[in-house]
Amino acid sequence: MSTGIKNGKQHTFNICISLLLFLFVVISSVAASDNGPKTEGKWVIVIDPGHGGKDPGAVGSFSFEKNINLAIALRTGEYLQANLKNVKVIYTRDDDSTVDLRERPKIANKNNADLFISIHSNWAKSKSVTGAETYIMGLAKNEANLEVAMKENEVLLREDDHSTKYQGFDPKSPESYIIFSLTQNLYQKQSSELASKVQTEFSERVNRNDRGVQQAGFWVLFNTTMPAVLIETGFITNLGEEKYLNSTEGQDYLASAIYRACREYINDIESKSGIPAGASQDNGSKPNMGSVDADSSNELLFMVQVSASGTRTEIKPENFNGLKDISEIYTEPRYRYATGRFTDYSEAVKYRKQVESVYPGAFVIAVKGNKILPLHQALEQKRKK
Ligand SMILES: [Zn+2]
Repeated sequence: MSTGIKNGKQHTFNICISLLLFLFVVISSVAASDNGPKTEGKWVIVIDPGHGGKDPGAVGSFSFEKNINLAIALRTGEYLQANLKNVKVIYTRDDDSTVDLRERPKIANKNNADLFISIHSNWAKSKSVTGAETYIMGLAKNEANLEVAMKENEVLLREDDHSTKYQGFDPKSPESYIIFSLTQNLYQKQSSELASKVQTEFSERVNRNDRGVQQAGFWVLFNTTMPAVLIETGFITNLGEEKYLNSTEGQDYLASAIYRACREYINDIESKSGIPAGASQDNGSKPNMGSVDADSSNELLFMVQVSASGTRTEIKPENFNGLKDISEIYTEPRYRYATGRFTDYSEAVKYRKQVESVYPGAFVIAVKGNKILPLHQALEQKRKK
């Protein structure tokens, strides 16, 4: 696809080449994931017990995280399958086997899952820290959340040949996390709805200390193509909580809470859509794949054009190098595709730099009422305001 207009200057990037390569691999792997046949009318929930096999995860005073995660995950799956006829559960592991970090989201993507739930136990330097928190994909808003993501992502360093497989992504380097700002998460709202239901169940029904819904850059969440959460069920480093997490009763309570949160999430969506479970996605197309109208209001916006074509392109990440926030603008005789929307020109320029790594010819355009204005005219208008 040609962009029609060539952008003269190519900016040199601060991001090292390995990160760029890594990005291409991520995006192509997401794009390449074939959408497996969807089980008719069923919600497919992929449950991912963190760590396993040679990776114990966080280590407590008498237990390993991997075993706690597995027990809670299996129990959650049992609850779901026993009580919800319209749910099919798939595990990324159902025993103490080693599963590479990058394989976990792939399992969910291949099975065209509706939900991805990664189950973990937390670690802290201070032994007094307790509580449960649920993460969604996003840029960490504070140091503590970034540390949790770093610790969880670190497991990839144990894998053979990890620098090749993850294209130089260093889970210990804060700079590596810049890649997570490139794509906007299409499923953030749904993920956050599920996450808050999990937290509500934990605090109100299971009496856990509620650490809330958080966001950070987790490898497993970044690579999924459906609503996804990562649950930190409690701190293995606090003796009381470690005992609870290892007890049959504790595991059962936590699992039933996750199950109820899923049930409520499913019921919410079904009642909103008025269609049976999973049916909304049976035709293989996911909802909200992108808006077609760039902007129906008359506000002057800056966007980043990534491509243009005489024929229409279906708006889905696979067709746009993994970009999830694409709008279509029709200007005779072509369709233009653009991402982002900013009222501030300099913000759009910043965003273009990010987009450039997957669309080297991307450039900023000005849009008003679904029409494209010459950039200088748009800037003039802004200046006069
Ligand atoms: Zn973990």
